[in-house]
Amino acid sequence: MAEQPDVIVIGAGVSGLSTALQLARRGRRVVVLERGALASGATSRASGLLGQLRGTLESSRMQVESLRTLLELAREAGADLFRQSGSLRVAWTPTRAAELERTRAMAAEAGLECRALTAAEAARLAPCMRTDDLLAACFFPTDGYLNPPEVARLYNRLGERAGVEYRPHTPVEAIRTRNGRVTGCRAGGREVEAPVVVNASGPWSHLLADLAAQPLPTTGIGHCYLTAAPDPPLDPGMATVRDRELRLYSRPTREGGLHVGIYEATPVAFDMRALPGDFRMQEMGTERFTAVLPHLLEAARRRFPFLSGSVPLRYTTGIMSWSPDGLPLCGVLPGVEGLYHCAGFCGHGVMQSAAIGLLMADLILDGSWRYDPVELEADRCVEWDDLHDHAAVTERCRVAYATCYGHPYPQG
Ligand SMILES: Cc1cc2nc3c(=O)[nH]c(=O)nc-3n(C[C@H](O)[C@H](O)[C@H](O)COP(=O)(O)OP(=O)(O)OC[C@H]3O[C@@H](n4cnc5c(N)ncnc54)[C@H](O)[C@@H]3O)c2cc1C
Repeated sequence: MAEQPDVIVIGAGVSGLSTALQLARRGRRVVVLERGALASGATSRASGLLGQLRGTLESSRMQVESLRTLLELAREAGADLFRQSGSLRVAWTPTRAAELERTRAMAAEAGLECRALTAAEAARLAPCMRTDDLLAACFFPTDGYLNPPEVARLYNRLGERAGVEYRPHTPVEAIRTRNGRVTGCRAGGREVEAPVVVNASGPWSHLLADLAAQPLPTTGIGHCYLTAAPDPPLDPGMATVRDRELRLYSRPTREGGLHVGIYEATPVAFDMRALPGDFRMQEMGTERFTAVLPHLLEAARRRFPFLSGSVPLRYTTGIMSWSPDGLPLCGVLPGVEGLYHCAGFCGHGVMQSAAIGLLMADLILDGSWRYDPVELEADRCVEWDDLHDHAAVTERCRVAYATCYGHPYPQG
């Protein structure tokens, strides 16, 4: 491809790859610039739960469409990446049981199949889970799980066929603007010109926005889950589980293991600027998570008692891109035309990615919103007047993370 693409996408995680694919399918010449290997950021660390009922009807509609689109793309490429195991939500306090009733009512409104289950029925769908304390449970049979790097490879493969050019190991160092319009980037020491640039750089997105003096309020928040490898292995077809009171989620692995992750009360914020230039998320250890791991293990053992035995465990840590209200930030901010942000996907970026690609392509090419922009558009943050600096943004993002399973924010 010549040096003059129609669109530069910064970041080859699921959101950038999906956006590049949809733009190329609509006839645009697209270059993806990536600082490391393709899909080496948060996408490489994600667990892969896929639940379609979100906090609002509109975001649930988007999620349902995202799964439908992903399955269509997978069929086209002959890939088999989704395991429809169904998902369970469980409650063991009266407050959470009442929450599940509201969940079922909302699922009905969203047109999503959801059944109330007895504890015995829940035990049959997730036999390794403790159920004697449950007051309520509900089951979404069309949910499931996938392997996030496979999703990235799918977008990459179809993107190559559509003519997308990928440049791994090409960090963007500057974003060029002239007269209030973006004109391109400097990446890997070379200038690349384009009238449209998409900032899909995940937890680094506020740093890329800074390059164009744009105040994008995202921050990097650490996240962690364990993988148990029991012998004999578990059934890979067992349901995924959410226990919001314990702040836990789980999913089986195709190899018969189990992921169990936690949205802890005291999230670990990362200063992305302070990470070394050669930082690789795939090599992250647990050093920053020593306060989190005991909570994860205790909660995981409470819901999955077999974890108290001598089961081999390993931990996966990574950094998510959070926004102050826990919702995506897509589109332009005032001051720079042609620079589109596509960030803040928190813990849902993999499952939302197929819809996000479609949405970004519509927005860039037609200026139209496929979904209600109230929960999506980046410039809603312009009205958040308490976000005067990055420390304030980070604190709001920590609160959003710590309360995402419906707990009050811990004081003190
Ligand atoms: C431990 C963990 C578990 C998770 N579990 C789930 C889950 O079960 N389900 C789910 O849907 N989501 C989950 N997530 C969240 C999910 O991973 C993210 O929402 C999603 O991957 C975001 O994708 P992205 O493309 O926006 O960002 P990323 O995947 O982080 O991609 C951004 C890319 O931008 C690149 N980049 C940064 N700076 C530059 C630069 N200067 N120049 C060029 N490139 C640059 C980075 O190298 C990176 O590859 C999890 C996340 C973590 C960390």
